[in-house]
Amino acid sequence: MNAPDTTPAIPVIDAGPFPSPGSTPLPEYAPGEREELIARIKQLLKEKDAVLVAHYYTDQDLQMIADETGGHVSDSLDMARFGNEHPASTLVVAGVRFMGETAKILNPEKRVIMPTLKAECSLDLGCPADQFIPFCDAWPDRTVVVYANTSAEVKARSDWVVTSSIAVDVVRHLSERGEKIIWAPDRHLGRYIQTETGADMLLWQAGCVVHEAFKATAIENLKRLHPEAAILVHPESPEPVIALADVVGSTTQIIKAAQNLPNKTFIVATDNGIFYKMKQSSPGKTFIEAPSAGEGATCESCAHCPWMAMNELHNLAEVLETGANEIHIDEEVRRKALVATERMLAFSRAGKQHVPGKGNA
Ligand code: SF4
Repeated sequence: MNAPDTTPAIPVIDAGPFPSPGSTPLPEYAPGEREELIARIKQLLKEKDAVLVAHYYTDQDLQMIADETGGHVSDSLDMARFGNEHPASTLVVAGVRFMGETAKILNPEKRVIMPTLKAECSLDLGCPADQFIPFCDAWPDRTVVVYANTSAEVKARSDWVVTSSIAVDVVRHLSERGEKIIWAPDRHLGRYIQTETGADMLLWQAGCVVHEAFKATAIENLKRLHPEAAILVHPESPEPVIALADVVGSTTQIIKAAQNLPNKTFIVATDNGIFYKMKQSSPGKTFIEAPSAGEGATCESCAHCPWMAMNELHNLAEVLETGANEIHIDEEVRRKALVATERMLAFSRAGKQHVPGKGNA
């Protein structure tokens, strides 16, 4: 008779309901209001000794202001790195909450504020600390590697924090040292890393509400219409979508791939906020959104994070005026989360990342 299976199951979290992609309405401005807000924000950034750090998925006005005021537009790893190195006393993080928390983890002496604290992430919501911590405790022999898209409490329970630009390299490194992994929270990215590295990984089962919506069949149909196009895919996308990719990579790696590949046209499976930087860095090239719904659906391409879209000029100006929406983290949690986050930054500084190529990030 077989012994009873005592393996702790990976909890399946119902973290919804989520706002659906495309559900956050675009901001509306009275004539001249947009220009006034932009001028006011630029002035306030100077007056308050603040710097704006924006994610690629945010509104293009915010990205433009960050660029024009000595701030930074990037992925979450690079946002954290920039905030750490910049001398401003206030970091204004335009993105989702875990990005503000990451900035605070690395910069406890700085004030970190965000245009809104309501901007969540389905991966963060899908990995609550009160369920993740006991799960990790049940596997004491495993190294805990978590994606940056997690709360400070989850990071504090981890051994490593990684972003999509570095995740494959870190897990390969750990696997080569014989370590077994718990990976959280994104199941698609976890499966992709497992395939790339052959590592022994237990995968948490959360997903990104935006990338999970991309549909392989619709992308294949689009590719038939544009046979010359290269397909660029973020690894939070489902496996059949990744299988169609010419390049799989983080946001920064996708932007670089568009610059480096000879193709003039690209089908892009990630949030369409990235097009602002892609067009800037690859002028003359054409970018097409990967379809995020099947045939017959009303939404053919809603590839935009509803939480990222909550960052806009009005709340950015307001938070600079008032200093509201400050990020606070319990100091013990912050210190523990810092250890895991700094491992990633040190690994990155040591240049252990490989150059993305066909089919890998
Ligand atoms: S695009 Fe996905 S992973 Fe990124 S913040 Fe939105 S829900 Fe989270």
